[in-house]
Amino acid sequence: MNKTLLVSTLVFSIVLHAPLAIAKTPVATGSGGAVATISEQASASALAILNKGGNAVDAAVAAAATLGVTDPFSCGIGGGGFMVIYLAKDKRVITVDHRETAPSAFTPAVFLENGKEIDFETAVASGAAVGVPGTVRGWHEALERYGTMGFRQVLAPAIDVADKGFTVNETFSHLTRENERKFQQFSTTSALYLRNGKAVTPGTRLRNPDMAKAYREIAARGYQAFYAGPMARAIVEAVNQPPLARGASVRAGQMTLADLANYEARIRQPVVSSYRGYQVYGMPLPSSGGVAVAEALNILEGYDLKALPRAQAEHLYLEASRLAFADRNAYLADPEYVDAPVAGLLSKDFAARRRALIDMKRAASDVAAGDPYAFQDDPSIPLRPAQRPLQKESPHTTHLTVSDKEGNVVSYTFTIESWGGSGIVVPGYGFLLNNEMTDFDFSGPRPNVPEAGKRPRSSMAPTIVLKDGKPAFSIGSPGGATIITTVLQTIVNHVDFGMPMNEAIDAPRLSERNGASTSVEPGFAGSAQAKALEAFGHKWEAPAEEIGAANAIVFNPDGTVTAVSEGKRHGVGTALVQRRAH
Ligand code: GLU
Repeated sequence: MNKTLLVSTLVFSIVLHAPLAIAKTPVATGSGGAVATISEQASASALAILNKGGNAVDAAVAAAATLGVTDPFSCGIGGGGFMVIYLAKDKRVITVDHRETAPSAFTPAVFLENGKEIDFETAVASGAAVGVPGTVRGWHEALERYGTMGFRQVLAPAIDVADKGFTVNETFSHLTRENERKFQQFSTTSALYLRNGKAVTPGTRLRNPDMAKAYREIAARGYQAFYAGPMARAIVEAVNQPPLARGASVRAGQMTLADLANYEARIRQPVVSSYRGYQVYGMPLPSSGGVAVAEALNILEGYDLKALPRAQAEHLYLEASRLAFADRNAYLADPEYVDAPVAGLLSKDFAARRRALIDMKRAASDVAAGDPYAFQDDPSIPLRPAQRPLQKESPHTTHLTVSDKEGNVVSYTFTIESWGGSGIVVPGYGFLLNNEMTDFDFSGPRPNVPEAGKRPRSSMAPTIVLKDGKPAFSIGSPGGATIITTVLQTIVNHVDFGMPMNEAIDAPRLSERNGASTSVEPGFAGSAQAKALEAFGHKWEAPAEEIGAANAIVFNPDGTVTAVSEGKRHGVGTALVQRRAH
């Protein structure tokens, strides 16, 4: 798609139709709480909750619930996610893993037919792709443990948007168009998002009373309203007998009411690493995000990037990312099922071993995984996973970040996996079910094969970075496996190249994931920056596509905060602060 056209159309349509009259301002500096999301309604919801005295966790859930209405193709209660929280009073970071789990009927052969992997897109649009959703339970745990408000208060702004509706913008319409074929297969989804089988057009007012109903039930009865009773039955039925349009046929799933009733979020310790005097707190397994970002930063720490010519430094960034991806792909999966060598992967000595493989002048390709076992506390672990290439991973999802006046910070990435997830809208409840199970590797032997109750490996990397024990910035992005490189590159841009966060986010993104070529964005190939990197042997993947949609908050030394969203991508995001600096 022509991004320039997209952005200008979007700005135009917002000026004409913005229902809450909030300008899309991608950068805001001030004091009090702050929020950055990709949706102006979601940022407004977070601000409303902060202004009512809610804390960052309350406001993050309010924003997330609103994103479920305005950005239903990337996230919602039919999916799962990862929340990293800095608790100012306790001076600690904790994470809430509410990744979807595989239903109890899952086996390693679930995506095989006659011993062969089934086609990826066939797997996506199916009941079989749907994992037990974790979002509502995750929100519950976050609010109960670290919030100050309940569902009734924090869901109110989202219910309002779902009831009153919002104006479809160019991004929304484009994503619907891209999914027309998937959505046409399901009666409920066609009824909600298509008009006569075609995508809703920009300017359409879209209401979602069924989603408002789902949120109202959760507001009234708590998370149990989702995991037991009529809504749970509707979910199970939609998975096992998808609501098909006439003539359509898809693979059914096998989810039970017990799968839903037994779902639990996990409170996990963050992955902690250090980088040039900063403390980096990331998401642990089952997301590979925190470990992969930390390993790449550990490799890069051995170079004085800011003193090097820019192309030389960028070459090193790409090569460090390549090495970290080789290790991620080989070793990482759900830690409750796989003994992943995380301590080894995070060790500075292991990073030094990996760094030694980098050629200062020449790009490698398809590097082998390293041996982190020698760097484990107990180096005797005998079971080493077989190395195989990567399963396809699709780039979607949403990331948001919120801080409050007490200094609490939330960095939150959540998803339904592909754009539009499995494509199945739950009858009567207006939300799309995820296809997160396609994040498993379809065949083994590999750490990330499907198993009953297991959480598929993720790339989500919500991150909070501290300096001298105090928050310095938060960062995160959607984008499938490119999440890791977007977070890594933005940190390097900001910390090493000294770019203000808005420049760090707006800079062209390069994503090297140990392939034969590097993913780049439209307009990059042919640029002076591209040519300088080609001299090192780097090659660019085609077609170029926009990468990620980052959101960040910077805690400035003078006590002010700067919220930063995308200034160019995904139709421009919205950053707000409670009290704007003039
Ligand atoms: N399923 C993806 C993951 O967990 C979602 C992230 C994305 O697509 O952006 O890594």
